[in-house]
Amino acid sequence: MSAHLTVLATGGTIAGIAGSAIGHEYNAGEIGIDAYLEKVGGLGLSAVLSGKQIANIDSADMGPPVWNALYFAMRAALADEACDGVIVTHGTDTLEETAFLLDLTIPARKPVVVVGAMRPADAVGYDGLRNFANAVRVASDGDAAGRGVLVVMGDRVFAARDVRKVRTRGADAFRGFPRGSVGLVTPAALDWFGAPWRRDLGAMFEWHDDLPPVAVVYLYAGVVVDDVVRQIGEDTQGVVIAGVGEGNMPEPVRRYLADLKAHGVVVVRASRADEGLVDREADDDANGFVAARALNPQKARILLQVLLANAIRAPEDIQRAFDGR
Ligand code: ASP
Repeated sequence: MSAHLTVLATGGTIAGIAGSAIGHEYNAGEIGIDAYLEKVGGLGLSAVLSGKQIANIDSADMGPPVWNALYFAMRAALADEACDGVIVTHGTDTLEETAFLLDLTIPARKPVVVVGAMRPADAVGYDGLRNFANAVRVASDGDAAGRGVLVVMGDRVFAARDVRKVRTRGADAFRGFPRGSVGLVTPAALDWFGAPWRRDLGAMFEWHDDLPPVAVVYLYAGVVVDDVVRQIGEDTQGVVIAGVGEGNMPEPVRRYLADLKAHGVVVVRASRADEGLVDREADDDANGFVAARALNPQKARILLQVLLANAIRAPEDIQRAFDGR
């Protein structure tokens, strides 16, 4: 029996148009969901698709207003007994943040797949049709449930928590860290690496549409405390450091941040390194800092915002959420 899938469209290059098969410039978020479903109609996909346009934007403009609309549309779709799964089309630039935010706040009982494309729809080698057909394959699979939000790009399935965009060009632009991909997919075949991992199929955290301000502070050779202060707003409730190496920082910066922490601002040490695993170190207890573990700074920011919105503020509770998967 064909799966019934709801497609929530937000824009991005997957819905982009260049006006040329070989040009570099293009506009993301040009094709509407109805036209898109007509386009994929010819692929012979064995699923019944219904679409809803949530936005049609470049994902550089993604943020709380569209996240709210997307979240409530997704909850409504998943609550419908006739809906077997949801696909979100999204720009690739901030796809990892949206996927992770939904992963933290959406129940894992039905498949939810986020998909994008690196090339606009009229470009030679458009990867959007392939990625979309793969997303349909994954979202139609009952075994996709219990894995949280999944991301399908370049014939691979990634867990939302692990996935990150690592290249600005080419169809093979995403990688999973610390787990690589959790499955391999083509429109005709799907192989999972291991069993579903979500024990609790309910939402991990409650949704709040007013995410608190959290700053990401990028560190570099020669950084001084004034540089850090300039990157932190007055109302900031949390700071994620994109630290050097394993979330490291110069001693004056450490002292400044420990003082911020003493005044109630949560401080998370992440790394600016590409694959930066940041473990707790002896000083973290004294400073009250949290280690981001495998989350990159932009995803550490999402998790910290969700935790703070859920009134989870104790460093040990925050650390547990960063440790978990
Ligand atoms: N700038 C585009 C976006 O994120 C890039 C893409 O989708 O590949 O919307």
